[in-house]
Amino acid sequence: MNDIKLALLGSEGAGKSAVLVRFLTKRFIGEYASNANSLYRKRLSIEGRLLHLEVFDPCSQSGESRCILEEPVEWADGFIVVYNISDRTSFLNAQNILCQIKEARGESCKGEMDKMDIPICLVGNKQDLCHARQVFEEEGRALSQEHRCHFQEVSAAEDYLEISNLFTKLIRHVMDH
Ligand code: GDP
Repeated sequence: MNDIKLALLGSEGAGKSAVLVRFLTKRFIGEYASNANSLYRKRLSIEGRLLHLEVFDPCSQSGESRCILEEPVEWADGFIVVYNISDRTSFLNAQNILCQIKEARGESCKGEMDKMDIPICLVGNKQDLCHARQVFEEEGRALSQEHRCHFQEVSAAEDYLEISNLFTKLIRHVMDH
């Protein structure tokens, strides 16, 4: 069985728990109390391979928009960086996080793009709040292209399929890495 470790990063309130809980349970849980160590485990099968998935939400206890990322960056095989499309500050924080991941892996934030192959998915959550949108989809896509990572807009409140697809895509990338 393969072990896959993912870190879930992003501003408080961006919907990290909601995205993860939607993936794990297919349900939307409006207010979710994180478990004590913010580590979630699930066994799943992708392409006939049995996987043991661990997802760590290192910022959930910090209550700050920026938390220390060195340890999760060393621990994780892949990253889900979540922002809220109706909150520009969370998008700016996602930009910082992408840089922090690269820098913690010994890459400069800009440049050396061709060498980058860290499995990362940038996720614009709360797509159902598009009437209050502060971040255009094109901006999210452009940021993902700059950092050579996957990109998906989703609504944890309304979608299961998109969220399941993004986890599957990222896990496949980790498996091929
Ligand atoms: P976290 O701090 O990043 O883990 O954020 P939470 O998952 O706790 O979500 C923060 C708030 O946003 C909660 O009130 C959720 O119900 C709400 N929320 C999360 N995802 C969505 C979404 O896709 N759409 C809407 N409208 N609200 C969401």
